[in-house]
Amino acid sequence: MDEKKKAVIIGGGIAGVQAAGAINGMSIHLISDEPYLPYYRMRIEEIFSGSTPESLYMHPQSWYEEKGIELINGHVSSIDRESKIVKLSDGRGICYDKLLLATGSHARRVELPGTIERSFVLRSMDDAVRMRKELENADSFAVLGGGLLGLEAAYSVASDFHIPVTVLETAPYILPRQLDKESAEILSAKLLESGVTVITSASVRECCGDYLVLANGRKIPASVFCFSIGVDPAKELAEGAHLTVNRGIVVGENLASSDPDIFACGDSAELNGRTFGLALHAREMGSAAAKAMMGECVSYKPSEPTALLKVGGIDVVSFGTPEGEKKVETDGEKRRTFFIKDGIIVGAVLLNDKASMMSVKAMIGKKA
Ligand SMILES: Cc1cc2nc3c(=O)[nH]c(=O)nc-3n(C[C@H](O)[C@H](O)[C@H](O)COP(=O)(O)OP(=O)(O)OC[C@H]3O[C@@H](n4cnc5c(N)ncnc54)[C@H](O)[C@@H]3O)c2cc1C
Repeated sequence: MDEKKKAVIIGGGIAGVQAAGAINGMSIHLISDEPYLPYYRMRIEEIFSGSTPESLYMHPQSWYEEKGIELINGHVSSIDRESKIVKLSDGRGICYDKLLLATGSHARRVELPGTIERSFVLRSMDDAVRMRKELENADSFAVLGGGLLGLEAAYSVASDFHIPVTVLETAPYILPRQLDKESAEILSAKLLESGVTVITSASVRECCGDYLVLANGRKIPASVFCFSIGVDPAKELAEGAHLTVNRGIVVGENLASSDPDIFACGDSAELNGRTFGLALHAREMGSAAAKAMMGECVSYKPSEPTALLKVGGIDVVSFGTPEGEKKVETDGEKRRTFFIKDGIIVGAVLLNDKASMMSVKAMIGKKA
């Protein structure tokens, strides 16, 4: 009898589920250590406004059954590459022919002197559920980090809990990777109208009761606070299995690791010296890894990311890099900033002009 080859996927995030849904002709085991069906991680803030975990599920249980995907709840503790078995911490072992590491990333924290009980990261459904409970009795909130996730968390808490919210950013302005200074200042002013105070060039020294204390001695009310200072790829399983790792699990354009039967995708993978951290790439890589696991020839090229944010009623869209000569066009509330290097448009930021998104995206990389 011609037995089906076994595809085992570790991680039930976007990358893992995308791959599981795209694999044909193999038996599929999808292992996840979270006590929920796979859910949309980027929507977990909706828990603050009363959404249930179930409402964030990517698919109902029946979808997995119809696709022949066996969902396994458990934590993989090691990979035995010689016997081709993944071992779960409860003692179970699962054989594979092709293995996919879609283990995502860990949110970073820093050690701050003082109380840490009410400090959070916002990475998982459980983080959001716990944070919501604390916020119900909080009288102030602060976010360390003025990146996309930090601003979205700050805005959600200000809207849902109506308490003073402060964003503390070490750079001279928020979203330094996506915006130029002027656009960032317009956004900060809008955030203030929504109850979010932005403090830039801020360095936190310690946590003292219901306050965070900055290096300059200023006290920021924060009965609950959240770190939003980036993520680190979850590569410990790969390290334990002696695969090549750097910042993430090193893969080639066919998404294979240094072991040709083990692939990696999503936040945990590193391709050409680059790690990702965006749902867009997790989804793309999941599809590409599925093809590679089925034996197809794959040469994955990541799309250029578009950052999309809605805060304080402002749509912010950013493409490419905010570097080079600046050209600004305004039309009432709409503001388009183009960044030009050697006569080529290398980046753009749109404020309140989501309608131009596709046409402006098409201009990136073209002559100004
Ligand atoms: C609050 C928030 C908002 C975001 N907003 C956006 C956005 O607007 N746009 C955007 O592009 N991106 C956004 N992101 C980032 C996006 O969610 C991630 O890039 C994406 O989830 C990565 O998908 P992944 O499948 O690689 O990993 P993950 O979604 O992290 O999934 C990995 C899964 O693997 C599990 N796992 C890890 N190790 C093991 C193990 N040993 N055994 C079993 N299971 C294991 C983890 O528990 C997890 O469930 C946001 C992220 C957060 C937290």
